[in-house]
Amino acid sequence: MYLSIDGWKSNFTFSACHMIPAHKKCSRLHGHTYALHARIHGKQDKSGMIVDFAVVKDAMRKIVDKLDHRVLLPKKGVVKEKNEVTIIEDGKRYVFPETDVVLIDVPSLTAENLAKYVLEKICKEIKNENISEIEIGISEGWGQDAWVSKSL
Ligand SMILES: [Zn+2]
Repeated sequence: MYLSIDGWKSNFTFSACHMIPAHKKCSRLHGHTYALHARIHGKQDKSGMIVDFAVVKDAMRKIVDKLDHRVLLPKKGVVKEKNEVTIIEDGKRYVFPETDVVLIDVPSLTAENLAKYVLEKICKEIKNENISEIEIGISEGWGQDAWVSKSL
């Protein structure tokens, strides 16, 4: 048995920009509307729930709010100084105000890596003894998703 929260239908969407170094097209700075989805597998407790939908949604909301309208960059390879973040990729130098950037501890900001990052955050937030597995999906635009899962 599992619970499912669809980010498009439940409004867990965010707009953000990124780049994928060394990729022909995606190495240029560009943006997407992303959606965050979750499936929570487990067994029901005495009240009949695996976990309260509200608990899962609170955790998802925190992540969406953090990433919305930001520039997403990998933590490694950037230089932070004087409230600015600089990244040099493929011979191009980008400088952003620190307030506009979220640094994420992944090698690159693909949908796959973003899903892995979110999965770890969600696992920490909503763990309980009923939950056996958590799946997280990130849509990079409508109709293309990356999914990862973790058994607990
Ligand atoms: Zn992209």
